Order: sequence, then structure tokens, then C-alpha cells
Amino acid sequence: MFLSCFQLAAQKQYIQCGRLIDGKSDKVRREMTVIVADGRIESIEKGFLTPENEEDRLIDCRHLTVMPGLMDMHVHIEGETSPDHYLKRFTQNREVTAFESLTYAERTLMAGFTTVRDLGGSGVNIALRDAINKGLVTGPRIFTCGKSIASTGGHADPTSGFRRTLEGDAGPREGVADGVAQCTEAVRWRYKNGADLIKITGTGGVLSMAKNGENPQFSREEMNAIVQTAKDYGFHVAVHAHGAEGMKRAVLAGVHSIEHGTLMTPEIMDLMIEKGTWYVPTITAGKFVAEKAKIPGYYPEVIRPKALAIGPKIQATFARAYKRGVQIAFGTDAGVYPHGENWKEFLYMTEAGMPPMEAIQSATMGGAMLLGMEDELGSVEAGKRADIIAVEGNPLENIAQMKQVRFVMKDGVIYKSEL
Ligand SMILES: [Zn+2]
Repeated sequence: MFLSCFQLAAQKQYIQCGRLIDGKSDKVRREMTVIVADGRIESIEKGFLTPENEEDRLIDCRHLTVMPGLMDMHVHIEGETSPDHYLKRFTQNREVTAFESLTYAERTLMAGFTTVRDLGGSGVNIALRDAINKGLVTGPRIFTCGKSIASTGGHADPTSGFRRTLEGDAGPREGVADGVAQCTEAVRWRYKNGADLIKITGTGGVLSMAKNGENPQFSREEMNAIVQTAKDYGFHVAVHAHGAEGMKRAVLAGVHSIEHGTLMTPEIMDLMIEKGTWYVPTITAGKFVAEKAKIPGYYPEVIRPKALAIGPKIQATFARAYKRGVQIAFGTDAGVYPHGENWKEFLYMTEAGMPPMEAIQSATMGGAMLLGMEDELGSVEAGKRADIIAVEGNPLENIAQMKQVRFVMKDGVIYKSEL
């Protein structure tokens, strides 16, 4: 499956596309050829062109729909939840987490996701990003926050739910921060540890060992300190938020994206439109936790009612936010559900009223714009990095085709070719 060595000899790659969705235009072009050289898109030509030189390579996607590599703006690439997930916090060594993350990264790439934004793990995610960039292991291009930042007992406090003799005293270094000084310090630790961006948990969450999934968990002053410090270091801030108060504080503080956004009010939507805040819905995770919470013992008891109350609401919030005009980037919270099933978000988004073409654009140009990478990623255009995938059939007629990924190229290297 890994064909990069195969392809090193080739000077140029000619991808013949039955249909081409470029990520930007609303039009589908038929019978096109994308020419790739040195990891970038050299040109896009009408008709099916064939290589002129012997060392050049033909990739026959005439029966497929070609599009930019997909981008998921909310994943947790290090892990996957399961009924024994909570026990594993005590038994699993980091090395095991690192090995497991390789599988998740590869699965994600093979599902057509060539870029992801990782919104929280132990720090293994930073090492994984570097190993992928060095070409040592196979996975998507990762932009990571490293460890998410929470207040004491907050959604991303790593020792919430531990018994007192085990809970220790996690501080800014571990991503737990209270007050302006610690919040500033926590951002600086992420910089020191090599993060690309900042993630904070602005409200309670579903899968943490705490009662409340909605309460605000940072004060305005703390949020402002985080956003200001992040700006100093060129970081954007992503905020996990279910409840309205914490969400509003985050938007007012000038954060870059709201994650989940479950109880988003019309007032907050308008504020987000005014301030250009992104919304990353993660409907897939909401549906998954609501489903699993029905199984006794799947989650600890403190989590069950939260999963049942919050999970099913996200899709309707997405529908309202989309109608009102909030800018939306595709994101799924992969890791809460099995990695590689990210495509399901397309089903849920279109089910809630977003046209298939817009859903695909939210997972291509939308992600690129959120990351500030729109000059490099997100569309099939001359000069951009050659992140290109192809799916069977026509996803605009049947969005479930997004599952049928037959071809994956990242930076001009082919990782999947089932043509
Ligand atoms: Zn998440």
C-alpha cells in the first residue's frame, strides 16, 4: 500500500480525474488531469492527458471523484475511548499510547484525511507530528495543541476523578491553570513543549469524571490572559464549550474557534459572525456518546447522564448555526469514536441541511482557512501542496461515498492506491 519508494523515480504524476471537486468552486469539472511535480500541484488541465516522458507516471482516476485531501479540525489522535479507557489512565504506559497512536494516524490518513488538528492528548501527539513530518511513520499532517489547558477540576484536568492520594497537584506544566499568572504560564509551557496552537476547556465536558458538562470553567480575566499570551506566540485558541456562559466569555475574549458549541444561543452565533469565530461542530462524537451511554457500564455513572443530555443536541445546534451564517469548519472529535470513521460527519452535516458541496468545502478550504494555511492547503490549485484524494462514485449525489476512499496522496506521495 505504501508506494512512495515506487514513485521517487517519477518526475511528474498525471492524475486523470473523472470528476474534480477543487475545494473552492461550487462547480464539478469533468475529465480533467491534475499534474503533480515535487510534492506540489503544477497545473490542472482539461481532458485526460498522458505523460510525455517515460519516467512520469499516470494515475487513472477516470472512474472516481477527485478532491483535495480532507481536513478534520478536531481529533484526539493519541487514543480511542472504550469501556476500559478510564482504567487505562492508571495502567497504560506512554510508550503503549505512542504505539497505538501510529495505528490511529494511519487509519485517519487512509480514510482520506491528510490534515488534522489535534485538540488534546498527553504530548505524544507532538512527537507523532514530528515523526510523521520526518517521514518515519505514516499519518496525516498534524497541527497539535499538545496538552489541553483546564482549570482545577475542569474538563481537561488530567487527574479529575482520581482518589486523593493519586491526584497530586497538577499545575500549568500539566495544563492545569487558575488565575491570570498560571494561565499565562500554561500557554508558555505549550510553547516550550512544541505545540502549534492552544486548546482550552471553557466549560464542563461529557467524558470527564465530573458532574457538570456545561458550567463555565475559566473567568473572563483568565480567558483574556490565555488569548493575549497565545497571540504573543502566534498561537490560535480553540475552546471546548457546551454551556452558553463559558462559550460567550470565550468568543468575547477573541478565541479562534468554538468546539461542540452545544448550547449556543442566537446571541452567541451573532457574536461569532461579528468576530469571525469558527464553529467546529463534532456531531459524530455527540451521536456516538449518546448511543453508547445507553449501554450499562460503557461509561462511568457520572458520565452517562451528561452523554445522554448533551450528545444528541449538537446536530440541531449545527443546523441553526449553519442557517444563521456562522462559519463552519469540519471537525469530528475522532478518538471519542473510532478513528477512520470521520466521514460520518458528512452524513450528519448534510442530514442537518448543509448541501454536500458545502460540507466538502468545510472539510477542505474551511479547514485550511481555520489553520491560516489557505495558501498551501485546502484546494486543488496550481502551486498548492499535492494533498489529493479520490472517492468512488459521486458524493454530491450520495454523500456516503465519502467512505469509499480509493486514493490518497499527501505532499505528492501516494499512501493509498486502490484503483
Ligand atoms: Zn475533543
